[in-house]
Amino acid sequence: MSEPDIVPEQPSEQHFQIAQKAAETLGLLVDGNGLKAEQVRLARHETLVHQLPGAIFIELKPDFVKGQLSGQREHGKVLGSEAAVVAAALALAPEAVTDKNVQIELLQLLDKDPARGWGIKPFKHPLKVTQKEFCVVDRCTKCAGLAQYNCTTCSGTGGVGCVNCGVTGQAPCPACYGSGGVQSGDGGRIPCQRCLSTGKVLCLSCNGAKTVKCGICRGQTKIACTECDRSGFWTHTYDMTFHAEAKFEMDRELMPKDLQEIIDTLGVRELATEDHAEIFRLNQNTEQKLLVIPFLAFLPIANVEFSIEGKQYPSGVAGLTGKIMGIDPVLDPIIKPGINALFKLSKGPLAAEALIAQACKYRVLRQILSGLSHHSKKQVYQTVTRSYPLVISDRFTKAAIKYAADAVLAISKGPRVKGLILGTAIAAALYAGYYFSPAQMYNAAKIAALGYGRYAFGAELAVWLVGYILAWLTIRYMAAGALQKLLPSEALDKTDTGLPTAGEQGTHALGTTMVAWLLCAFFAFQKPAWVLTLLKMVGKTAGAP
Ligand SMILES: [Zn+2]
Ligand SMILES: [Zn+2]
Ligand SMILES: [Zn+2]
Ligand SMILES: [Zn+2]
Repeated sequence: MSEPDIVPEQPSEQHFQIAQKAAETLGLLVDGNGLKAEQVRLARHETLVHQLPGAIFIELKPDFVKGQLSGQREHGKVLGSEAAVVAAALALAPEAVTDKNVQIELLQLLDKDPARGWGIKPFKHPLKVTQKEFCVVDRCTKCAGLAQYNCTTCSGTGGVGCVNCGVTGQAPCPACYGSGGVQSGDGGRIPCQRCLSTGKVLCLSCNGAKTVKCGICRGQTKIACTECDRSGFWTHTYDMTFHAEAKFEMDRELMPKDLQEIIDTLGVRELATEDHAEIFRLNQNTEQKLLVIPFLAFLPIANVEFSIEGKQYPSGVAGLTGKIMGIDPVLDPIIKPGINALFKLSKGPLAAEALIAQACKYRVLRQILSGLSHHSKKQVYQTVTRSYPLVISDRFTKAAIKYAADAVLAISKGPRVKGLILGTAIAAALYAGYYFSPAQMYNAAKIAALGYGRYAFGAELAVWLVGYILAWLTIRYMAAGALQKLLPSEALDKTDTGLPTAGEQGTHALGTTMVAWLLCAFFAFQKPAWVLTLLKMVGKTAGAP
């Protein structure tokens, strides 16, 4: 079973090492950026371990599975109404919360949580244990508890109107056909003996009574109620289980503001899941119908002063991982000469190698140059801000990336122009191969045969697009090759296969490949339909007076 943790008298030694940890982290960040890791010194530090109380509050709430049984049946505790059942179930909750099995089930559930419940989101959990049955016995609504009800067909009279005689009780006499007279032996008319000249006799079906026995109740006037199985009662059954509703709360009332801010920055849940704090789960107790599972977290916070090259950097450090919460951008003044070199590099090709060497003295600038050789500015920005939290200001990061991107464009301009020429030549070769061979005719015929004639121009436009993409890739490959030669090898990530941007030459390639494509199409052996249409239009305009 989930035993409570034992809280030590004193926080463990690791709490008092966070300033040292932070110094090491800072050392790794500045290392290779014009500084060495060991140049970061801990001038002064003062560590306090805060004890943060928190608790999970659990309330039990009843759930019901309802059922109906006909008749008066035995099913748990009999109560007068559904409201009484709910009240009875709620009254059981405070006792259920003290149940050892309930507590064990909940503690075992929390054991499965990576933070053992600290900072857990509010949750509901159906409990396996604790079940109780209730029932409410009601009169049957159909028969009002009488087990039978009036026949609706005969309205409880037992008889219905006779259909044969139209509720008259009489039928036409079959001997005289209703005329009252019959023909005598000598041909004269004599009165009908059968109906005594009335022409009518009693209805055979109702014997003159006008009504017949009701076929539904067989004249009994009542029908036995089958809804309640002829008992007059219903038993409503309630199978009750509890579910737990739990929420975690930290006791913040007595905490100073700055401590609360640190907790919010680190994240309450993350104190446990990211190992910022040492967390103890204490013995559970019950109070006011609630099960309370208390916690205590030990969170170290240090006031630190780092000393770097004689300069003092006050800083806040929090959590067992020694996270630096705030510090002046240590690297800004140090990498500034490197950023200046990138700026000069972006202005032109003068002294490129010396400037590249100057910028590449700094690890972060090498990473930016390398990143831009493969990726977009936005991606590089994200990587840099992630890799150098706090130690470089946002302004310096953005400036470094902007100048580096311009520098990469400047130093790879020549190769990109070469790429544009080569790429356009490749595209032109492709277009020529298409238009000066049977390929275009074959293709056009096939498209027409398939009934897609109206897409013929689109298909040819696709040929242009393929050529353009080839040219665009050629420019980027040439730029990549040039950067590989120009940048120091330690600045290049050989595993990264992304290509640098094509720059303005990429845009120029749109025009050059378009011209090559149009020329090939106009001088094709078999001019495409759209070229003929175009020529006709031009001819008409030219021929007009
Ligand atoms: Zn009934
Ligand atoms: Zn008659
Ligand atoms: Zn009748
Ligand atoms: Zn009836």
